[in-house]
Amino acid sequence: MQQQVNVFKFGGASLKDADAIRHVGTILKRFAHQRLVIVVSAMGKTTNALEEVANSYWRGDAPEAKQKLGAIHEAATQVINELFAEVPEELTAAVNDLFVSVEWALDEAPNPEYDYDYDQIVSLGELVSSHIVAAYLNRIDLPTRWLDARDVIQTDNTYREGWVKWPETIERAERLVPPLLQEANFVLTQGFIGNTSENYTTTLGREGSDYSAAIFSYCLDAEAMSIWKDVPGVLTADPRLFDNVTKIDRLSYKEAIEMTYYGAKVIHPKTIKPLQNKSIPLYVRSFIEPHLEGTYITDDAGDVYPPMVAVERDQALINISTRDFSFVAEHHIRELFEHITTTRLQVNMMQNTAISFNVVVNDIDDRVERFCTLIDQNFKTTVDRQLELITIRHYTPEIVDSLRRGKVNMLEGRLPLTLQMVVKDVPVMRRKD
Ligand code: ADP
Ligand code: ASP
Ligand code: MG
Repeated sequence: MQQQVNVFKFGGASLKDADAIRHVGTILKRFAHQRLVIVVSAMGKTTNALEEVANSYWRGDAPEAKQKLGAIHEAATQVINELFAEVPEELTAAVNDLFVSVEWALDEAPNPEYDYDYDQIVSLGELVSSHIVAAYLNRIDLPTRWLDARDVIQTDNTYREGWVKWPETIERAERLVPPLLQEANFVLTQGFIGNTSENYTTTLGREGSDYSAAIFSYCLDAEAMSIWKDVPGVLTADPRLFDNVTKIDRLSYKEAIEMTYYGAKVIHPKTIKPLQNKSIPLYVRSFIEPHLEGTYITDDAGDVYPPMVAVERDQALINISTRDFSFVAEHHIRELFEHITTTRLQVNMMQNTAISFNVVVNDIDDRVERFCTLIDQNFKTTVDRQLELITIRHYTPEIVDSLRRGKVNMLEGRLPLTLQMVVKDVPVMRRKD
């Protein structure tokens, strides 16, 4: 019987410099005899830096865009020089070609659709890192085949948030990956990117590499998927925001979906569903302490949990009422949701009263303005911005009280297991002297 495949995903933090990549090599040595599909993100904060390139280009400042791109190329070259005493020629050629193709594109006039240009530029990060890591693994005697994820992951034309075409993607994964795994135990590919039927690159949404790994896991019927993070596993809250967090050893798919959907940034929210559909377990493990057990996410993880907190920042609360002072009726709600769909707003919470409808959305780009303009003829709107959405699963009165302290509560919703509140900081009052 053929050995089953495991899928590993290494994110930007685990590949942030040459030492980090060496450390990933050390982790992978332990798995040399397994068949692995390894999905990698761009190194460190490269995607943010590439977003800056896209923004300069879009503003019409091609020289600035090129200068920023040059700095990213230099940083990649430095990592390569630190990793290899003798740099493989094919690696230098592959990386240079990738940078030159984007540099040339920066000489053209921007496309009318920003999101299209964004994807063509920002996808460079994963392409470069995957070439570097694959070459390094081969150099340390871990035979690895490089795979272009765009040959496998097919999406529609929704740039910056490509929707996966599952039948095409499954067919390609089944056809292309197993022969590579016959040649070498490791196949290494990019997270975050896909391809349209016209052969243009798409991205799957920021932080989407976890999702790419889940797509490969689903298509290849993986035995398990592991994502290697800078935390010991899934914690009761983001350790960057809270003290006293504890690791959760086992988590159900359902709990994981709820927490990640509302902003637990440790896993991309789209990751869990494909795994759940095929009962593929997900391990969230620490690349810093790789021998420790992380969090095991599966079907039979029980249902007793400590309170878990997720915080989503940059929320906008849109209060909507009709211009003719009528009640907000079903046909109004239908019209509002049509525009919510066209402007790609993600609704995190909603509540209605007789004369107003409140939605809480992620405040991305100019989507809220575009939405308000589209509905302006029939609806009045007021918008509160820079709010936080705090979601508490398995809430207790104590934890709710402690999270409310120092905040103004703008909207709250309770279900038996979940409490959500949209808050802003209490304005600081200063006494006049
Ligand atoms: P990657 O390197 O794969 O991109 P991320 O940085 O996206 O990894 O995710 C790991 C980060 O997620 C952690 O550093 C942590 O600050 C954050 N995080 C947010 N919520 C949680 C949580 N509930 N448990 C663990 N980490 C969390
Ligand atoms: N590099 C992409 C990002 O930073 C995808 C990922 O890392 O998951 O958003
Ligand atoms: Mg990430």
